[in-house]
Amino acid sequence: MRRTPVAEQHDPRLAQLEERLTAVQRRIESAVAAAGRHDTPPQLIVVTKFHPAEDIRRLAALGITDVGENRDQEAADKAAGLGALGLRWHFIGQLQSNKAKSVVKYASAVHSVDRPQLAGALAKAMAAEQGRAGRGPLDCFIQVSLEDDADGHRGGALPVDVPALAERLADSEGLRLAGVMAVAPLGADPVPAFEKLAGISARLTAQFPDATGISAGMSQDLEAAVRSGATHLRIGSDILGPRPALR
Ligand SMILES: *Cc1c(COP(=O)(O)O)cnc(C)c1O
Repeated sequence: MRRTPVAEQHDPRLAQLEERLTAVQRRIESAVAAAGRHDTPPQLIVVTKFHPAEDIRRLAALGITDVGENRDQEAADKAAGLGALGLRWHFIGQLQSNKAKSVVKYASAVHSVDRPQLAGALAKAMAAEQGRAGRGPLDCFIQVSLEDDADGHRGGALPVDVPALAERLADSEGLRLAGVMAVAPLGADPVPAFEKLAGISARLTAQFPDATGISAGMSQDLEAAVRSGATHLRIGSDILGPRPALR
């Protein structure tokens, strides 16, 4: 019996997503091959921010298991409507401490932990949530700023502040220190930036051997990220197309 390819089900958007996803998966495979990482391929997280829940349903039909969102209200609404799909939701955006309670209801990971107060708020929220839902620990990535200029605009903790934040996360019940995350500086070569992140990761795992995660790599720079050891890629526009304008 022949399974009907999903793209033949007369949904042009599904066919388009399948084509774009396949192209990105090929790029990842080539990068993995070039880096000799067959045994440790990265996890693809499809960043679905600003795109409708219906696209996430299509991506799930195409085999996607992990999605990324950067605004709590939008993510909460989508997760509530798509609970049956069993997806893992990754929160990847700037997060205010007062949103922690909401985020832990649907997220399995937060990639943007950049300060001790947020770690505290997430731990407190998880204490309440674990009692209620019996969920597993929340994976926490420390977002690191890779800007040379200390007050770079893409966010994240300074490298010098990573050890203290890591200890805070490792000591928090309900949180699991997963590793580090970064966004390559705008307009600069991503290769040295991701090499710097790999160095920060190596120092972190010397102290916390299980915190091996490196969340790095977006549509424009996934090859460089794979080369530098990224374990999680966050890809949006090359799969979903340009993001609709903000309402
Ligand atoms: C939007 C976003 C992405 C995806 O970026 P694309 O260039 O669309 O692939 C990845 N990471 C973060 C933190 C984002 O905000």
